[in-house]
Amino acid sequence: MIDSHVHLDRHEFGGRGLEVAERARAAGVGGFLNVGYDLPSSRASVELAAAAPDIWATVGVHPHDALQLADAEGRLHAEGRALLEALATLAGNPRVVAIGEIGLDFFRDLSPRPAQRAALAAQLELAAAVGKPVVFHVRDAWAEIMPFVDTCGLPPRRGVLHAFSGDEAVVDWALARGLRLGIGGVVTYRQSRLPEMVARAGVEHLLLETDAPWLPPVPHRGECNEPARLGLVLDRVAGILQMNPGDVERWTDAGFTALFLDRGDASP
Ligand SMILES: [Zn+2]
Repeated sequence: MIDSHVHLDRHEFGGRGLEVAERARAAGVGGFLNVGYDLPSSRASVELAAAAPDIWATVGVHPHDALQLADAEGRLHAEGRALLEALATLAGNPRVVAIGEIGLDFFRDLSPRPAQRAALAAQLELAAAVGKPVVFHVRDAWAEIMPFVDTCGLPPRRGVLHAFSGDEAVVDWALARGLRLGIGGVVTYRQSRLPEMVARAGVEHLLLETDAPWLPPVPHRGECNEPARLGLVLDRVAGILQMNPGDVERWTDAGFTALFLDRGDASP
């Protein structure tokens, strides 16, 4: 199985991201997408991808850090333009398979919303320009992001809604546009409505992820998450879909390969 969203470079792993990956391989994880969220983490992702053939990288600026690209009124500034150029250069590396994580986060609202919108629009344009898909981070902003993305336009290679938390309307919107849903540890939480959304979408539209070091699945809540726990997500998804885990693994691996590695069709 492939962890489609992980942050092996985070300080929580104390610089031992490659050891964390090795533990995950021993638990059956055969690929990792290490996701950038600002310039340093994007560079770190590219370095990790250079160190192991089963690690790929994304580069991008998270909505929390949108002020690095735009001002509070939503205008790109000179430093932001330089940062976009640096991201474009990094994205030329063939091991960089997507732009992300990008999006809107109105839950924490760590950046002014106009800046978040401008950062998202600029990076959707970047993804189209470099011919890569996107990794979206969306929190408490579903009603806004759907029309926003429809207006800006999705890059031709499409993308994934990481840590999916939308409702039925968002599932239908995403599937109609060829977006995949990233499903992680939240699917194991008792209060979550995510299992209903997983069933609505169907396996061919799902990718598995841990978002480690965050969002640990049950029974590890409160701990630092690791990609070695991806099997708990896989088993839960298989249970919801009443499929055997091996089939879910094949479908989600094929979905990852089709989206990010631009190879093959999306069926196993
Ligand atoms: Zn993330």
